[in-house]
Amino acid sequence: MSHTPLPGNRDTSWLGWPFFDARHDELGHTLDAWAAQHVANVDHTIDTDTTCRTLVRTLGEAGWLRWCVPAGPDGSWGGKLPEIDSRAVCILRETLGYYDGLADFAFAMQGLGSGAISLGGSDAIRARYLPRVAEGSAIAAFALTEPDAGSDVAAMTCTARLDGDHYVLDGAKTWISNGGIADFYCVFVRTGEAPGARGISAFVVDANTPGLDASERLDVIAPHPLATLRFTNCRVPVGNRLGEAGQGFKLAMQTLDIFRASVAAAALGFARRAMDEGVQRARTRPMFGGTLGDLQLTQAALGDMATAIDASALLTYRAAWMRDVQGTRTTRAAAMAKMTATESAQAVIDRALQMFGGAGVQSGMMVERLYREIRALRIYEGATEVQKLIIGRDILKS
Ligand SMILES: Cc1cc2nc3c(=O)[nH]c(=O)nc-3n(C[C@H](O)[C@H](O)[C@H](O)COP(=O)(O)OP(=O)(O)OC[C@H]3O[C@@H](n4cnc5c(N)ncnc54)[C@H](O)[C@@H]3O)c2cc1C
Repeated sequence: MSHTPLPGNRDTSWLGWPFFDARHDELGHTLDAWAAQHVANVDHTIDTDTTCRTLVRTLGEAGWLRWCVPAGPDGSWGGKLPEIDSRAVCILRETLGYYDGLADFAFAMQGLGSGAISLGGSDAIRARYLPRVAEGSAIAAFALTEPDAGSDVAAMTCTARLDGDHYVLDGAKTWISNGGIADFYCVFVRTGEAPGARGISAFVVDANTPGLDASERLDVIAPHPLATLRFTNCRVPVGNRLGEAGQGFKLAMQTLDIFRASVAAAALGFARRAMDEGVQRARTRPMFGGTLGDLQLTQAALGDMATAIDASALLTYRAAWMRDVQGTRTTRAAAMAKMTATESAQAVIDRALQMFGGAGVQSGMMVERLYREIRALRIYEGATEVQKLIIGRDILKS
C-alpha cells in the first residue's frame, strides 16, 4: 500500500523557535533530509526483529545514535556531546517518528536502554557498553516493569542477592522493549537495603548470561520487539551493578526524566505526519463538487489539529530546554509535555484518519499505522493518569 510521498515538503519552521541553538537547527535539517531518504520507506511487511536490528545498525552507521550517549573522556564513550542534550534527542525522535515509528523506537531504546549505564555505570562498564550503543553494534533494553508492578513500580518483587563476587537474580520482568533482540538489559531489581523504592539496585545483564530467558515474546497492535524476561539463578558480577546498592530506583527515575519529554516528541512526530496526511487528503479528495478541504467542518478540524500540535510542541521543547539550559528539575514540565503530546496526537491522528473515510482503516495506510502506533505512548513511561498525579502533587508541593 503506498503512502502519501511527503519527503521534502515537511514544515521545519519550528526549528527557528528560541528554544534552539544553531546546532539544533542544523541537526533538524540534516536529519530530516537523511530520514526522508533512509527511513521513509521501511518495509513493514518483513519480520520486525530484522527490521529493528537493521534500523539500529543504519542509525549507528549514520552517527545518529551518538546523540543518545555522553562523549566520555576524550570521546571514548562514543557520544556526540559531554552530556545528553534533551532538545537534540527530542528533535531526533520527532523527526524519526514523522517518517517511521520503528526508526524512532530503534533510536529511543538505545538511549533509554543505556541511560542507567551513562548515569551510574563505573568507567569500565561505560567504556564496555556505550561505544557499542553509539555505533549501533549492540542493542540496549530497559527492564523495569514486572507482571504485578507497572504504574506501581516500587512494588517490584524480582530480587538480587549477593553471593560472593556475584549477585544472583531471580524473578520476571515484562513488557520489555527490544526483549529477545537486545544484547544487554539494564535491569532494576530488589536488593533489600531498605523497604520500597530505597531497596532497589540496577544491573547491566548481558543477553547471553546463563539463567536469563527472553524467549517469551509479546505481540502488540503496532509490532515491535517485546518480551517477558525470566531470571532463574542468574549470576551477574558485582561490577555490573550500576550506581550504589539501593540507588537503582533513583537511577531508573533519572533515566526516565531524561527521556520522558522525548516520548512527547515522538508523539509530536506522529501527529505532524497525520496532519500532513490529512491536509493532503483535504486538498485532493473530490467531494460535493469541490474538495474535502472546501467544507467548513474540515477546516475547523484542521484548526483544532494544528493548534493541538503547536501546544504539544511548545510544551515538549520547553521541557527539553529547561533541562538543557536552566538545569532545573523538569518533572512537572516533562509530565505536562508527555501527557499533552500523547493525548493530542491520538486525537489528531484519529481526526486525520476520519478524513480518509474507509481508506483510513485500510491496512498499510499511513494513518492506519499511526493510529496503532500512538496508542502505547499514552501508557508507557507513566500512563496519562500517572502524569496528572505527578503534575498535581508537584503543584501542591511547590
Ligand atoms: C508497547 C510497550 C512497551 C513497553 N516497553 C517497556 C520497556 O521497555 N521497559 C519497561 O520496563 N516497561 C515497558 N513497558 C511497560 C509500561 O511501562 C507499563 O505498561 C506501564 O508502566 C503501565 O503498567 P501496567 O501495564 O502494569 O499497567 P497498570 O500499572 O496495571 O496500570 C493500568 C492503568 O491504570 C491506570 N492508572 C495508573 N495509575 C493510576 C492511578 N493512580 N489512579 C487511577 N488510575 C491509574 C492507568 O490508566 C494505567 O494505564 C512497555 C509497555 C508497552 C505497552
